[in-house]
Amino acid sequence: MSVRVRIAPSPTGNLHIGTARTAVFNWLFARRHGGKFILRIEDTDLERSRPEYTQNILDGLTWLGLTWDEGPFFQTKRLELYRQKVQELLDKGLAYRAYDTPEELDAMREAQKARGEAPRYDNRHRKLTPEQQAAFEAEGRASVIRFIIDDDQEITWHDLVRGKVTWKGRDLGGDMVIARAASGSEVGQPLYNFVVVVDDIDMKISHVIRGEDHIGNTPKQILLYQALGAKVPEFGHTPLILNQKGAKLSKRDGVTSISDFKQMGYTAEAIANYMTLLGWSPPEGMDEIFTLEEAARVFGFDRVNKAGAKFDWDKLNWINSQYLHSMPVEQLTDLLIPYWQAADYQLDWSGQRPWLEQITALVGPSLSRLNEAVTMTRYLFVENVEFTEEATKKLRQDGSAAIVEGIAGALVKTESLTESSAQELIKQVAAQLGRKEGQLKPILRVALTGDTRGPDLLQSWLLLHQRGWDTLRLQKALEIAKG
Ligand code: GLU
Repeated sequence: MSVRVRIAPSPTGNLHIGTARTAVFNWLFARRHGGKFILRIEDTDLERSRPEYTQNILDGLTWLGLTWDEGPFFQTKRLELYRQKVQELLDKGLAYRAYDTPEELDAMREAQKARGEAPRYDNRHRKLTPEQQAAFEAEGRASVIRFIIDDDQEITWHDLVRGKVTWKGRDLGGDMVIARAASGSEVGQPLYNFVVVVDDIDMKISHVIRGEDHIGNTPKQILLYQALGAKVPEFGHTPLILNQKGAKLSKRDGVTSISDFKQMGYTAEAIANYMTLLGWSPPEGMDEIFTLEEAARVFGFDRVNKAGAKFDWDKLNWINSQYLHSMPVEQLTDLLIPYWQAADYQLDWSGQRPWLEQITALVGPSLSRLNEAVTMTRYLFVENVEFTEEATKKLRQDGSAAIVEGIAGALVKTESLTESSAQELIKQVAAQLGRKEGQLKPILRVALTGDTRGPDLLQSWLLLHQRGWDTLRLQKALEIAKG
C-alpha cells in the first residue's frame, strides 16, 4: 500500500488546534506506513484568506515537527485544472448549467419550508432544452454548474474510524453546485467539495483523514470521484475536540490556535504529545509521554475513538511539566530566553549565560508552563523591584529593621557569598539578635525579593549577589522598614 495523505487547511485563521490534531494523525499515519504527508493550502475563499494566516499555519506545523514531504500547494494557483475538470463533467453530461436566480431559489426553499420539507434543490434545470438555455441566456441570466446527484442511490464507505457509513442520495440536497455563477459559457469559481476531489485525485491521495465535521461532504465527494473516473480513496473521520461542556471547541473557548499555546509557554513536544492523545489511545503498556516518532511506530486507526475528545487543560499542563522537568538545563534555558526577552527584561543574554542557567535550575522544577518563569523570576531581572503590600507590612513589623540591618552589616564583612557562608551569616545574625533563624528568613526573603513567596531563598540570594543587587535591596528594604 502506497500511503499518501494530506492536510488541507484554509488560511482563514491561525492554525487551529483541531486542524493541527488532524495534521498529527495524518503525519503519524504517513510515517507509520512509510508514506508521504502533503500540505495543501485551500485558499479559494479570497475574502477570508490572508497571507499572514498561511504563514501562521506553516510556522505552526513546522514548530510542532509536522514536516511535510510535498507542498505547500495553493489552490488559487490551480484554478485552470478545476475549470478543465468542470468542463469534463459538463461534456460527459454529468453536470449541467442551472440558471435559477437567487429570488427563485429563495421562493423554492420557502415553499419547501411551508410543506414541512427539508430544503434542497429540486433539480428543476436538470433537463433544460438548448432552447430554454438560450432563452435564459438571452435574459442575461448567469449560470452555476450543478453536478447530478441521483436520489435513488446509496453511498457507502468503510470509514477508518467509524466503520460502515451509508448515506442516501436523496439526503444530499439535490444536484450540487460545483462552480459559482458566471455568464455565457464561462465557468465560475469552482467550489470546495469539487476542488478537494480534483486535488486529492491529482495528488494521488490514498487516505483522506480529516475531522468529523466533514463527514457530510464525503458522500458527495465519493460521487465526484466516480464521475471523474477516479479510484475512491479510504476515508477516516477523526473525533472532534470538545470543550468541557461537550460542545465543539471554538474561538469562544479562548485559546485555540497553536501560536497561542506557544505563547502561553507550552513546548511543541508537549502539544504534539497531548494532541495525539486527543482521540487516540496508546497501546497497553506504552507510556503517555512519547515523541511523535515513538507514536508513529504504533499508530493505527483501530485505537482512534469515535467519541469526541474533551480538551483537558490539567492534563496538558501535566504533560508539559513532564517535558520541562526532564529537560536538560541548557535546553530549558534556550526555551526560556525568548519569554524573558518578550517581557522586556534587559541582560547580556549570551554573556550572562551561566547565571541564566542557574536561574533555570532554580525554577525549572516548579514550572508547568514556560511563561510562568517570567513573573517567578522578575526579582532577578528588574533592579527596582516593587515590594508587595504583604512584604511591606512584614518589613514594618517590630524587629524587622534590626534583622535587615544586621544582615546588611554582616554581608559587608563577608568575602565570598556561598550557600554555606550565607547560611552561616544568617545563623550569626540570629544569635546576635537573640532570634531564631526561622524568624529571620521570611524577613530576608521580603527584603531581597519584595515578596513573601518565591523560589528557594538562599539560591535567590546568591543569584542576586552575583548581580550586585542584594546590598541594594537590603538598603531599600531598610528604608521601608523604618517607614
Ligand atoms: N479546507 C478544509 C478545512 O480546513 C479541509 C478539507 C479536507 O480536509 O477535506 O476544514
